[in-house]
Amino acid sequence: MHPPIRIRILASGSQGNAAILSLRPRDAAPAHVLIDLGLSPRKLCGALAVENINPHDIAAILVTHADSDHLHGGWARRWPFENAKVIARKAHHNAMANAGIPATRMLDAHGDSKTLFPYIQAIALPHDQAGSTGFRIDMDDAALGWATDVGRMSNDTLAFFIGVDALCIESNYDLQLQRRSSRPDFLKQRIMGGYGHLSNEEALKAALHIHSQSALRHIVLLHLSAQCNSHDVVRTLWNAHAPQLAQEMHVATQSLSLPWLCVGQPRQCRWSESLFVAYQ
Ligand SMILES: [Zn+2]
Repeated sequence: MHPPIRIRILASGSQGNAAILSLRPRDAAPAHVLIDLGLSPRKLCGALAVENINPHDIAAILVTHADSDHLHGGWARRWPFENAKVIARKAHHNAMANAGIPATRMLDAHGDSKTLFPYIQAIALPHDQAGSTGFRIDMDDAALGWATDVGRMSNDTLAFFIGVDALCIESNYDLQLQRRSSRPDFLKQRIMGGYGHLSNEEALKAALHIHSQSALRHIVLLHLSAQCNSHDVVRTLWNAHAPQLAQEMHVATQSLSLPWLCVGQPRQCRWSESLFVAYQ
């Protein structure tokens, strides 16, 4: 049986971000939704073909923000999502139009998208000048939260994600590796100053807070820095400070897609497949 929400994260990191959501409402037709278009059309359409998903069948595309690792420049030359609505904050629409997204397809994540997609909620997140957008998808008895490129987790943001079963959250950098890196000071300040990215500690703290008021069953860490982070560093931190949650935690990578994650299923059905798949 198809759970209410399935998600496959195709890629996550500064070289490109994209995920496929497969939604199966109890009383309505199934829907395919994408989160971010940070892969090239060739790679993303190739991944959809592997999943037997026709781009024409994508109902909605959630765009967190218009940086090129979330909105690849290639979509200006090829737009196969003829039936998709593109849901993003109004403040991002101009930048998205400049990147080639058809203006007629865009919906305001805080406005008209709610009529067509009442199960999708959005929240503004601090990230550079234009900000980013977090999303929450509630489908029947299951809920999934998505937060990447977040300078800091405010109380409002934490409250927005209370009650989700699955939390996909950025865990960009290790504090020590960031401080010791050869990056220029202005860049370190941009990343760590509250309008850049979440550190591993901040992501862990947020997950623990949300878990304390929810029944978090799945956590996926997103957007790890290649230079200032590693799976081992993250795993060591979680094993030391949240051993009970570490078992439910997975790390998305830049080059391998994670298996489908089933949300709203019994624990043993957490992954629908055992293999991690290279789609490139
Ligand atoms: Zn990014």
